[in-house]
Formats: sequence, C-alpha cells, structure tokens
Amino acid sequence: MARKTLKGTPIAAGVGIGPAVVVEQGLGDVPIRHLESDEVEHEIQRFELARARVEIQLDRMRTFVEEKSNDADALIFAAQKAVIQDASIHEAVDEIIRAERIGAEGALQRQIAKFDELFLGAEDFRQLGSEMRDPWRLVLQDLAADREAVMPADGPRILVADQLTPSLLSRVHGGSVLGIAVTRGNRYSHGGILVQALGIPAVSGLPNLTATLESGTPLIVSGDTGEVVVEPDQDELRRWARIQSDQDRKAQWLVEKALEPAALADGRPVEVLLNVETLRDLEDVEADLADGVGLLRTEFLYMERKEFPSENEQVAIYQEALAAAHGKPVVFRTLDIGGDKRLPYFQMPEEENPAMGWRGLRVSMAWRDLFYVQLRALLRASAAGPVRILLPMVTTASEVKETRAILEGLKEDLRRAHEPFDEEVALGAMLEVPAAALTLDQFIDDVDFLSIGTNDLVQYMLAVDRDNPWVAGLYDPMHPAVLGLIQAVAKRARTHKTPLSVCGEMAGDPAGVLLLLGLGIRSFSMSPVMAPVVKGFLHAVLPEEADEVAGLALRESDAAGVARLVDERTAILWSRIRFQTAESKRH
Ligand code: PEP
Ligand code: MG
Repeated sequence: MARKTLKGTPIAAGVGIGPAVVVEQGLGDVPIRHLESDEVEHEIQRFELARARVEIQLDRMRTFVEEKSNDADALIFAAQKAVIQDASIHEAVDEIIRAERIGAEGALQRQIAKFDELFLGAEDFRQLGSEMRDPWRLVLQDLAADREAVMPADGPRILVADQLTPSLLSRVHGGSVLGIAVTRGNRYSHGGILVQALGIPAVSGLPNLTATLESGTPLIVSGDTGEVVVEPDQDELRRWARIQSDQDRKAQWLVEKALEPAALADGRPVEVLLNVETLRDLEDVEADLADGVGLLRTEFLYMERKEFPSENEQVAIYQEALAAAHGKPVVFRTLDIGGDKRLPYFQMPEEENPAMGWRGLRVSMAWRDLFYVQLRALLRASAAGPVRILLPMVTTASEVKETRAILEGLKEDLRRAHEPFDEEVALGAMLEVPAAALTLDQFIDDVDFLSIGTNDLVQYMLAVDRDNPWVAGLYDPMHPAVLGLIQAVAKRARTHKTPLSVCGEMAGDPAGVLLLLGLGIRSFSMSPVMAPVVKGFLHAVLPEEADEVAGLALRESDAAGVARLVDERTAILWSRIRFQTAESKRH
C-alpha cells in the first residue's frame, strides 16, 4: 500500500511507531484427516493434551497481565480458561471424533462452526461469539502446530490483524508490541479492555487491513485520534515522534503528580480513594497514591476460597488489608454476591432475572449467621485500624436500621467478651438502588457515610442490565436522569454533613469526574490504575468550571449530548496542563 492515512476508531490511547507484522488469525483450511478405528482414542487424547497446554498458556498470560496491570483485567484469562474447560464441548468434540472418525482439528473446527451458527445471526452477539471462539482458536493452533506461522518476528512491531481478541495479545512478548491496528474490535470487548490496561496504542475499524498491508510496512498508529499512517514520510515521522514524546512527558508528569495530595486547580482538596478486589491489588500501591480504600469488594476474598472463611480467618484478612492501606481508612463492603457473582460453595437459586434478584444485603439479611460472622470479624479487625462498613444494594430504610441494631448488639457481645474494637467504627450505605437514593432522608441519620455505586444505579435507573449485550448501547452513566439524582443526593448529604463518595466506574474516568465535581461530589473511589490519571486531571479543574459543565449537562435531553459536551470540556482542560516534569524543569 502506498503512503496514506487511514481513519479508524480509537481503542487505546498513545502513539506507536514501527514496522507492521500481519498476524494471520483465520483458522485456515484445517485438513480433515480420516482415522482408523484404533487411532480414535489416541486422537481424543491429543485433543485433551492440546487443550491442557492452552490452559497453561492462558495461566501465563493471566500472570503477565496481573503483573502489568491488575487482577480484574487478568480475570479475562480465567474466563477464557473456563470456556475451554466446558465439559459439554469436550464431549461434543470427542463425539465427532468417534462418530465421524476424523482428526481432532477437523472435529474442533466443526464445533467452532456451531458457535458461529449460534451467534452470527444476532448483531449484538457477534462479539460474544468471537470471544467464545477465541480460546478454542488457540487450541486449534496448538493442534495444527502452526503457531510459528502466526507469531510476529522478534523485535518491536505493530500488530495488524483482523480482529482484536485476547489471543492476539498472547503473542505479546516482553513489550515488543508498539501498537495494534485491526479491522474489528471495540473498547469494551475483552481484547479492548486488555490493550487499554496494558497501555498499547490501538485502533480498530480499518477495513481490509490484513489483505492490503504487508509485514514490514512502516506504520504510525494513534490510539488518540484513530489515525493509522501507512509508510509515513520524514515530516510525518518527526511530527508523530514529537507527539509521542509529549505523551511520554505527560505520563511521567502523571506519575510525579500522583504522589502529591489530590487537589483542584485552586488548591482545594479532593479525596481520591481506591477500589480493590483482593489484597494483591494493594500490594504495589504507593502509600501516597490515595487517601484510603473507598471500596474493598469482600466477595472476591470469599470467591478465592473453597468454603466460607471463619470469623478468625476474616479478622486476619481484614487486618492484612488495613496494614496494606498504611493506616488509612478502608471501606469494607459486606458480601455482595448474587447477580453475576457466585460462590462455588454456596447454592444460589436459579433466577429468571438475577440482576433484579437475590443479591447483596438481601442475601446477608436472609443468611443472618453469615452476616453476623462478617460483621463481628469487621468489628474485631477495627482494633487494628480505621474500618468502615459499607452495605451493598440497600433498598429501604428498614434494612439500614436493622443492620445498625445488629451491629450495636454485636458490639455489646464484644464488650462483654472483652474483645477490643473501635467504638466509632463507621457504617455506610451504598446508593445503587434508585428507591434508596430517593428516600435518603428516611435513613441518612442512621449512617455515618454514603457511597454512590453508579455501576448499578445506572442499570436500575435506565432499566438496562449491565451484563446484557442486547441493551449494552443503552447503558450510559451520562444520562441526565442519573446526573439529576446524583446532584440531589449530594445536596442532601451536604445538608446532613454526611460524607459522600462515588465508587462506580464513572469516578475513575476524567470526563465522569468533571461532571461529578459539578454535581457536588468531592470524593472519588476508583481502580488503582486510574488514580494517577484522575489526580493529574483534577489539577486542571476549577470548581466553577465543573459547575458550569454540570449545569449545561443537566439541560441536555440525552446521554449522547452530555457526552459530547463533557468530552469537549475534558479535552480543553487536559490541553491546559503544561506537563512540566522534574526532569524537564532541570533542562
Ligand atoms: C457499583 O454498583 O457502582 C459498584 C461500585 O459496585 P459493583 O460494581 O461491585 O456492583
Ligand atoms: Mg454495585
């Protein structure tokens, strides 16, 4: 292809400059080998071995992402592992090998074709179909022993492929991928989330890429603008290299700023807290990065085990978390199972609509013994540091009042047993069910703090199941109705002097933070990877600017209008920062 600039959709920010390597992802023509009857069992074993090797490959990839990013992103590989562990598919492939007496590759490819039939009909399920196929594709490659054919050459390269899948990334070796350009893939797919987490610039939506580009072609990929420059000339190379170095300076500036206290442009302090799922998430966090842990999702500590942790085990885990938080407060959310989260050792009912069902505090209220053990453990752990207890899925005032009474009863038991605990241990409610947010006055005096969980609040306000791909396009925290409710809650909390923070994903996104500031929020809890970005961004915002944006947003008629407005303002605010690092000041 001659020199030209293609325009695609930005997936992951940053600029990559380097030679292309075209990665063949198609399954190609898998030869159908006919078997003698005495070869059948051997073939079934061959299939099982290939599958086991891919499991190991996925485990390795998971460790790699855990080290580079965080546990939540790495869970994608656990999900992929679960796909290739699905016994019904093994049985189906074994059955094809037996019944049709064909080699494992051919049998597996037939089974993969069935996924296609199942998912390709429906536009919104196409992504799901490709993610189901993706780990099986690795097994097929292993069987066909053609892995070398699709591995990029050594050295830094820009991957060019048809589809952005996690298995494309399993060819990432030691930071040798400078960027990614693909025909298909979106930022919310597993592959999209991964490249963002790994900080690899990526662009999708470029038709016919693998057919028109050759390996070795010089490329520039901008994950900020969506541009892909093919065979750039010297001027273009210089211009993009400058942009790239400005970005490196911005990244360095963010790292430096992240260790300063969070504040707005006028110096007014803001609270930045962390959302964590396991204690490992806290291991590498710098003590100065945040003001504490704003959301520890305790169900993940339960999920890692084979049975319910005993009270003493929980005390030990919670105290470990307090130690890892360097004496800063830790908000422990009580068990939030149900919906999409299950414990392997706890039978949950099969529900027609689990998102609206038996989850969070509702389960704790039904299984009081489990709830008492967790609350007692949290009270006992409070002797070692500032514990705050947060209740998920609160719907009515009576649930909060009842929990408060339970907590007071447990405190009395501990006093009698001369067990030390913090008398001031704080109790808070999550606002994620609209009914609770709208009747806040009924229980605000019963809580010490509040936390808005926008992830669930949005799904319940907009009637959009957050895990349902059919309605994914309708899920948007920028809907004016959501903004109005957050503003009303912030006002009530201020009047009652009740500390309030936001812990949904919206609080880890600069555009969301700009809006939330304008709606009256001053405390944000987010995943540790986003904390440096948000802290850096806060330095650019004056409170009156945020107020103006929120005022305009509340007058918009839909989420798209709000997003346009907020994205534009966010970009202007970023462009105001001069990104002067200690290094650049020295020169
Ligand atoms: C939320 O609902 O916004 C939240 C933070 O909780 P989770 O994402 O764990 O449901
Ligand atoms: Mg929630």
